[in-house]
Amino acid sequence: MVVAEALIRWILAAMPPHLACFNPSCGQRYPLSEIVYSCGACGSLLEVANSFADVDPETLRATWRMRRSSLEKVDVSGVWRYREMLPFASDPDCIVTLPEGNTPLFDAPGAASYAGLESLQFKHQGYNPTASFKDNGMTAGVTQAKILGMRRVACVSTGNTSASMAAYAAAAGMQAVIFLPAGNIAYGKLAQALEYGALTIQVEANFDQILALVRELAAEIGIYLLNSVNPFRIEGQKSIAIEMLEQRGWSVPDWIVLPGGNLGNISALGKALRELREARLIEDMPRVAVVQAEGSAPFFRHFVEGGNLRPVSAPETLATAIRIGDPVSWHKAAFEVGSADGIVESVSEQQIADAKAVIGRCGIGCEPASAATLAGIRKLVRAGTIRESADVAGILTGHLLKDPDYVYHYHSGQLETPSGYHVQPQFGNPPVTVPNDRTRIAELLDRAAVGPFP
Ligand SMILES: *Cc1c(COP(=O)(O)O)cnc(C)c1O
Ligand SMILES: [Zn+2]
Repeated sequence: MVVAEALIRWILAAMPPHLACFNPSCGQRYPLSEIVYSCGACGSLLEVANSFADVDPETLRATWRMRRSSLEKVDVSGVWRYREMLPFASDPDCIVTLPEGNTPLFDAPGAASYAGLESLQFKHQGYNPTASFKDNGMTAGVTQAKILGMRRVACVSTGNTSASMAAYAAAAGMQAVIFLPAGNIAYGKLAQALEYGALTIQVEANFDQILALVRELAAEIGIYLLNSVNPFRIEGQKSIAIEMLEQRGWSVPDWIVLPGGNLGNISALGKALRELREARLIEDMPRVAVVQAEGSAPFFRHFVEGGNLRPVSAPETLATAIRIGDPVSWHKAAFEVGSADGIVESVSEQQIADAKAVIGRCGIGCEPASAATLAGIRKLVRAGTIRESADVAGILTGHLLKDPDYVYHYHSGQLETPSGYHVQPQFGNPPVTVPNDRTRIAELLDRAAVGPFP
């Protein structure tokens, strides 16, 4: 099944970039210039179909390497440096960049030993202009909006998508419109959107109702939608894998592990790996693992039970960036997990919280959703699925400062889920209060352990 689908996709891709229906039994195509978010014939997701059969991998590697010393803004960007892999934006003057990407690949020995691995690397997408991997995709989505001549962009989101869209719209001189379900707000991220000047509209309806309404309005009043289904955002997010492999000297890890919410990121990762292989930049596929939070794990359940994905009606997790009950990109994600011999895992709130503190103690830090990566790796090592000596690269999706309340509550022993589960901080580090007394402070410092990782 996967092989046949892959073959059809390969045949469809052997033509200039265009939009193709992701449903292989439909195969409807649309020009890049058409404003369309899902297939008009069958309702499936669309993807940008590219052909890389004729590229020369050595020339590409040398070109990308050389661009690292260039001062041109499109070369400085860690997305557009690899623009041969994103051929939809043929005019560099349309590119909207802040610039994004160029994120570090860390060795994290403390996290490796916590997970039971000999070594572990983290690719940290929190080091982006708005501090999440959404920037890798948004630069491409807003660039496409500019190519289409749009003046307004919109999304329905309370989180990192709105923060990122607001920034790129501002950089492009467009108006950003953010729709939020009333009373469901993540303040850190909303603060970014307000500061970047987005028009923020709270609607008294749930996420799905608002999305349906915004879709109708978008066509009527000329707004380009940049929600997670947008196929150009997926194109931009491919750069996370491309840049990581370049940083590794094109050595393919055994595993790439990442958290999953709406499942756009795994869709982009899988597409990148397939295209890099088609371009002969890599020979082997790594295996992939997608990690979900237990209270919000419809894709995990689908992976275990098969059949159609059954949405979770009241998803719950403190990792708000992956609190998604009905992931829009699950068809793509299922295909990519299948092509990369991948798996899906789920982890508890306790496991996410402790893994996050461990990443912090490596001097790295991340937002809660990102820590599902390490919690998942640890679980998979313990189960024997990932070997202790495996070469593993985890993707950290967002920055530590996205959610400071969570951090303080964890370290001070006050972290609790809405359903009343109280997290026991295994690596808690609460602030200590002392009187203004030299001797007492000296005693305290004397007793405090000085040393490496616990
Ligand atoms: C959006 C987001 C995710 C989830 O990514 P999907 O593409 O929706 O699966 C995970 N972590 C962070 C920090 C995010 O912003
Ligand atoms: Zn279709």
